Amino acid sequence: MAEKTLDDLFLDTLKDIYYAEKKILKALPKMAKGAQSPELKAAFEKHRDETEVHVERLEQVFDILGKRAVGKVCPAIEGIIEEGAEILDEFKGSVALDAGLVSAAQAVEHYEIARYGTLKRWAEALGMADAAKILGKTLDEESKTDKALTGLADSFANDKAKAA
Ligand code: FE
Ligand code: FE
Repeated sequence: MAEKTLDDLFLDTLKDIYYAEKKILKALPKMAKGAQSPELKAAFEKHRDETEVHVERLEQVFDILGKRAVGKVCPAIEGIIEEGAEILDEFKGSVALDAGLVSAAQAVEHYEIARYGTLKRWAEALGMADAAKILGKTLDEESKTDKALTGLADSFANDKAKAA
Protein backbone atom coordinates (compact mmCIF):
# COMPACT_ATOMS: atom_id res chain seq x y z
CA MET A 1 0.00 0.00 0.00
CA ALA A 2 1.34 3.43 -0.97
CA GLU A 3 2.07 5.70 1.93
CA LYS A 4 -0.60 8.31 2.49
CA THR A 5 0.31 11.98 2.39
CA LEU A 6 -1.12 15.33 3.47
CA ASP A 7 -2.58 15.60 -0.05
CA ASP A 8 -4.65 12.48 0.62
CA LEU A 9 -5.77 13.81 3.98
CA PHE A 10 -6.71 17.16 2.38
CA LEU A 11 -8.84 15.42 -0.24
CA ASP A 12 -10.49 13.17 2.36
CA THR A 13 -11.35 16.15 4.56
CA LEU A 14 -12.66 18.06 1.55
CA LYS A 15 -15.00 15.15 0.83
CA ASP A 16 -16.09 15.13 4.47
CA ILE A 17 -17.10 18.80 4.49
CA TYR A 18 -18.69 18.47 1.03
CA TYR A 19 -20.93 15.73 2.39
CA ALA A 20 -21.61 17.82 5.52
CA GLU A 21 -22.52 20.98 3.59
CA LYS A 22 -25.04 19.07 1.51
CA LYS A 23 -26.65 17.69 4.66
CA ILE A 24 -26.73 21.17 6.19
CA LEU A 25 -28.36 22.52 3.03
CA LYS A 26 -31.24 20.10 3.63
CA ALA A 27 -31.45 20.72 7.39
CA LEU A 28 -31.56 24.53 7.34
CA PRO A 29 -35.04 24.87 5.78
CA LYS A 30 -36.40 22.58 8.52
CA MET A 31 -34.76 24.74 11.19
CA ALA A 32 -36.15 27.89 9.50
CA LYS A 33 -39.61 26.37 9.43
CA GLY A 34 -39.37 25.37 13.09
CA ALA A 35 -37.99 28.67 14.41
CA GLN A 36 -40.51 30.81 16.25
CA SER A 37 -38.93 34.24 16.01
CA PRO A 38 -38.94 35.92 12.59
CA GLU A 39 -35.32 37.01 13.15
CA LEU A 40 -34.13 33.45 13.69
CA LYS A 41 -36.15 32.23 10.71
CA ALA A 42 -34.53 34.92 8.55
CA ALA A 43 -31.07 34.01 9.85
CA PHE A 44 -31.55 30.36 8.89
CA GLU A 45 -32.90 31.30 5.46
CA LYS A 46 -29.98 33.64 4.83
CA HIS A 47 -27.50 30.95 5.84
CA ARG A 48 -29.22 28.41 3.63
CA ASP A 49 -28.47 30.67 0.65
CA GLU A 50 -24.88 31.08 1.80
CA THR A 51 -24.56 27.31 2.21
CA GLU A 52 -25.48 26.87 -1.45
CA VAL A 53 -22.43 29.00 -2.27
CA HIS A 54 -20.30 26.96 0.18
CA VAL A 55 -21.12 23.84 -1.84
CA GLU A 56 -20.14 25.63 -5.06
CA ARG A 57 -16.88 26.85 -3.54
CA LEU A 58 -15.98 23.31 -2.52
CA GLU A 59 -16.62 22.22 -6.11
CA GLN A 60 -14.14 24.90 -7.20
CA VAL A 61 -11.54 23.42 -4.84
CA PHE A 62 -12.17 19.91 -6.22
CA ASP A 63 -11.65 21.48 -9.66
CA ILE A 64 -8.31 22.99 -8.63
CA LEU A 65 -7.24 19.51 -7.48
CA GLY A 66 -8.45 18.01 -10.75
CA LYS A 67 -10.72 15.68 -8.77
CA ARG A 68 -14.39 14.87 -9.08
CA ALA A 69 -16.57 16.44 -6.37
CA VAL A 70 -17.79 13.55 -4.22
CA GLY A 71 -18.79 13.40 -0.59
CA LYS A 72 -17.60 10.98 2.06
CA VAL A 73 -20.02 10.05 4.82
CA CYS A 74 -19.44 12.31 7.82
CA PRO A 75 -20.88 10.69 10.97
CA ALA A 76 -20.11 13.83 12.98
CA ILE A 77 -22.51 16.05 11.03
CA GLU A 78 -25.15 13.34 10.99
CA GLY A 79 -25.03 13.26 14.79
CA ILE A 80 -25.08 17.04 15.14
CA ILE A 81 -28.05 17.35 12.78
CA GLU A 82 -29.81 14.48 14.54
CA GLU A 83 -29.50 16.34 17.84
CA GLY A 84 -31.00 19.43 16.19
CA ALA A 85 -33.92 17.34 14.94
CA GLU A 86 -34.42 16.02 18.47
CA ILE A 87 -34.65 19.57 19.83
CA LEU A 88 -37.15 20.49 17.10
CA ASP A 89 -39.25 17.53 18.08
CA GLU A 90 -38.92 17.54 21.86
CA PHE A 91 -39.19 21.32 22.40
CA LYS A 92 -41.89 21.98 19.83
CA GLY A 93 -44.20 24.75 21.03
CA SER A 94 -42.05 25.51 24.07
CA VAL A 95 -40.55 28.91 24.93
CA ALA A 96 -37.11 27.28 24.92
CA LEU A 97 -37.36 26.07 21.30
CA ASP A 98 -35.52 28.98 19.69
CA ALA A 99 -32.74 28.84 22.28
CA GLY A 100 -32.39 25.14 21.49
CA LEU A 101 -32.34 25.76 17.74
CA VAL A 102 -29.64 28.40 18.13
CA SER A 103 -27.53 25.98 20.16
CA ALA A 104 -28.00 23.24 17.56
CA ALA A 105 -27.09 25.62 14.74
CA GLN A 106 -23.99 26.79 16.59
CA ALA A 107 -22.82 23.19 16.94
CA VAL A 108 -23.08 22.92 13.15
CA GLU A 109 -21.18 26.18 12.60
CA HIS A 110 -18.44 25.19 15.02
CA TYR A 111 -17.97 21.90 13.19
CA GLU A 112 -17.67 23.79 9.91
CA ILE A 113 -15.28 26.34 11.41
CA ALA A 114 -13.05 23.49 12.62
CA ARG A 115 -13.03 21.85 9.19
CA TYR A 116 -12.55 25.02 7.11
CA GLY A 117 -9.85 26.30 9.47
CA THR A 118 -7.93 23.07 9.01
CA LEU A 119 -8.48 22.89 5.25
CA LYS A 120 -7.37 26.49 4.76
CA ARG A 121 -4.13 25.87 6.66
CA TRP A 122 -3.45 22.64 4.80
CA ALA A 123 -4.11 24.35 1.44
CA GLU A 124 -1.52 26.96 2.40
CA ALA A 125 0.94 24.27 3.52
CA LEU A 126 0.44 22.43 0.23
CA GLY A 127 1.08 25.59 -1.81
CA MET A 128 -2.51 25.98 -3.02
CA ALA A 129 -3.01 29.70 -2.43
CA ASP A 130 -6.17 29.90 -4.57
CA ALA A 131 -7.83 27.05 -2.71
CA ALA A 132 -6.82 28.60 0.62
CA LYS A 133 -8.46 31.87 -0.42
CA ILE A 134 -11.71 30.14 -1.42
CA LEU A 135 -11.82 28.13 1.81
CA GLY A 136 -11.05 31.29 3.79
CA LYS A 137 -14.11 33.04 2.34
CA THR A 138 -16.41 30.31 3.61
CA LEU A 139 -14.58 30.20 6.94
CA ASP A 140 -15.34 33.91 7.39
CA GLU A 141 -19.03 33.40 6.60
CA GLU A 142 -19.31 30.53 9.07
CA SER A 143 -17.70 32.68 11.77
CA LYS A 144 -20.04 35.58 11.00
CA THR A 145 -23.03 33.25 11.18
CA ASP A 146 -21.84 31.91 14.52
CA LYS A 147 -21.54 35.46 15.89
CA ALA A 148 -24.96 36.43 14.52
CA LEU A 149 -26.46 33.39 16.27
CA THR A 150 -24.83 34.42 19.54
CA GLY A 151 -26.35 37.87 19.09
CA LEU A 152 -29.79 36.40 18.49
CA ALA A 153 -29.46 34.10 21.49
CA ASP A 154 -28.52 37.04 23.68
CA SER A 155 -31.29 39.27 22.37
CA PHE A 156 -34.25 36.92 22.68
CA ALA A 157 -33.92 33.19 22.93
CA ASN A 158 -32.14 32.93 26.26
CA ASP A 159 -34.27 35.63 27.86
CA LYS A 160 -37.47 33.97 26.73
CA ALA A 161 -36.35 30.61 28.03
CA LYS A 162 -35.54 32.15 31.38
CA ALA A 163 -38.86 34.00 31.63
CA ALA A 164 -40.79 30.73 31.44
FE1 FE B 1 -21.19 26.08 5.33
FE1 FE C 1 -22.59 27.11 8.09
